[in-house]
Amino acid sequence: MSQARFASCIPLPLEHKVLVNVIEKAKDWALMHGVGMRDKKHFTKDAIQIAPFVLLPSPFPRTEFTKAIELQTVLNELMHKVAHNEEFLEHTLQNALQVDEFTANLYDIWVKVRNEGITQPISLGMLRSDIMLESRCPHTENQCAKHTPYCSWKQVEINSIASGFGHLGPSVSLGLFRSDYLMHTADQNRIKQVEFNTVAASFGAISSNLPAMSRYILRQLNRGDLIKNMPENRALSGLCSGIIEAYDLFGIPSAVVLFVVEEVSYNICDQRFHEFEISETRPDIMIFRKTLNEIYEETELNDKKQLILDGHPVAVVYYRSGYEPAQYPSSREWDARLRVERSTAIKCPSIHYQLAGTKKVQQALAAAGALERFMGSSAATTRVRDIFTGLYSLDFDENGERAVEMAIADAERFVLKPQREGGGNNLYGEEVRDALLRMRHSRERAAYILMERILPPLVSGYVVRPGAPVPPQVVDLVSELGIFGVIIGTKDKIISNRQVGHMLRTKLADADEGGVAAGLGALDSPYLI
Ligand code: ADP
Ligand code: MG
Ligand code: MG
Repeated sequence: MSQARFASCIPLPLEHKVLVNVIEKAKDWALMHGVGMRDKKHFTKDAIQIAPFVLLPSPFPRTEFTKAIELQTVLNELMHKVAHNEEFLEHTLQNALQVDEFTANLYDIWVKVRNEGITQPISLGMLRSDIMLESRCPHTENQCAKHTPYCSWKQVEINSIASGFGHLGPSVSLGLFRSDYLMHTADQNRIKQVEFNTVAASFGAISSNLPAMSRYILRQLNRGDLIKNMPENRALSGLCSGIIEAYDLFGIPSAVVLFVVEEVSYNICDQRFHEFEISETRPDIMIFRKTLNEIYEETELNDKKQLILDGHPVAVVYYRSGYEPAQYPSSREWDARLRVERSTAIKCPSIHYQLAGTKKVQQALAAAGALERFMGSSAATTRVRDIFTGLYSLDFDENGERAVEMAIADAERFVLKPQREGGGNNLYGEEVRDALLRMRHSRERAAYILMERILPPLVSGYVVRPGAPVPPQVVDLVSELGIFGVIIGTKDKIISNRQVGHMLRTKLADADEGGVAAGLGALDSPYLI
């Protein structure tokens, strides 16, 4: 099986002295522009340290980047419709709810709020669709007999193909025809969706600073000529425009905005940048940061169901916490969540949006006929289906049994995912087999979905980490691109829908997961090829 390799934007390795020098400059740039996080090991509110980053921007095919950008509003609308389709959510989640207490708690709140009557019909979605390039040959072995030399070929230099087919040396030496070569590689490195985040989708703010950081680094390396291939990123202002628009729709001048935050915010730069941006754009909007426990203690619902904080009605509640079980250590946090959902505040996300972002819903949307239900049989439907990779239910039916057998027989091909967010929850390879053997006859398995593992193209690069030895080694990396979207609307009407920016994060090629906040991935910027 071939895993394509992209050429890095500058040939590596860099000369030792050049590398040490540019890393020192890059680290200072990062620190002074908030490409940082708080130190988990030696926590203090008085300091931030650099967030891990990739020194040189990673290559990403321009056509696939454009495709991802163009698809975002289609995906936003799809998720908006899914979030507002009670029957679909209920049907899709019913088995998982039996065995997944966290999702069941969210679901119970949704049912309670619906039964009481919706006080705020408008939802604000600040979404992020995550994708990877699939570098595997999409053909089955039989289909691909003609292309066998390509499929076993380990390192395909895509860059050189994109730049005018000038570098056909390897294919010529393998005795292959140019047309075959192009036909084959044209099917590779297409975007595939990893997941769709509807709650606390982070790193839009810091990522907006990264193109400037890459520009600085490239100039220090005398490669300012490469800057033209780096797209601008305005995710921060785009995401904040969503909060501001929702605030104006709420329409009460004395109202405030509430960020729901963790007990300790390590990813403080990313969060605070939103506050700074809103304060600069709209000095009239006051923002509070509160934990769920503080919301429990400090807020109340008045007779108009307004959420009152510090004497002000809350217009918009933006969750940067509340997406994982550990963030609800007691019933107080759940009570706080219910209070917010009951209120007239515009929630980002509303509870049904959070449910629509579960892995189970992603899997259900990949089932035959599901997309048509929401989008009809349009060209857009085909484009969305095109980015789905194999997704399988593990329910107790014929399909579920087949999926279990398939995964046990060929575990390396799959990822096993529970209904969780925030990284570090999935199982890979041998763990998939072990877990499925253990859960084969247990209802517990319905809490998971099975997903085809995506194998992105490799690129060589340097990862700069706080406290790590300088200079770092050249390592093999793979990237995951996130596209941000903002959507505002009610069940029947979409008021705004836009694509607002992107983030690229990159991890060691042999690491299973790459969350930056989880300490595995590194911030990056796309270099379009
Ligand atoms: P979470 O909501 O916890 O972020 P994800 O579905 O994004 O869950 O999975 C976490 C990480 O695991 C991803 O960022 C990616 O690095 C890896 N991953 C998830 N699904 C796949 C897949 N199908 N193929 C390859 N890697 C995957
Ligand atoms: Mg997620
Ligand atoms: Mg993710």
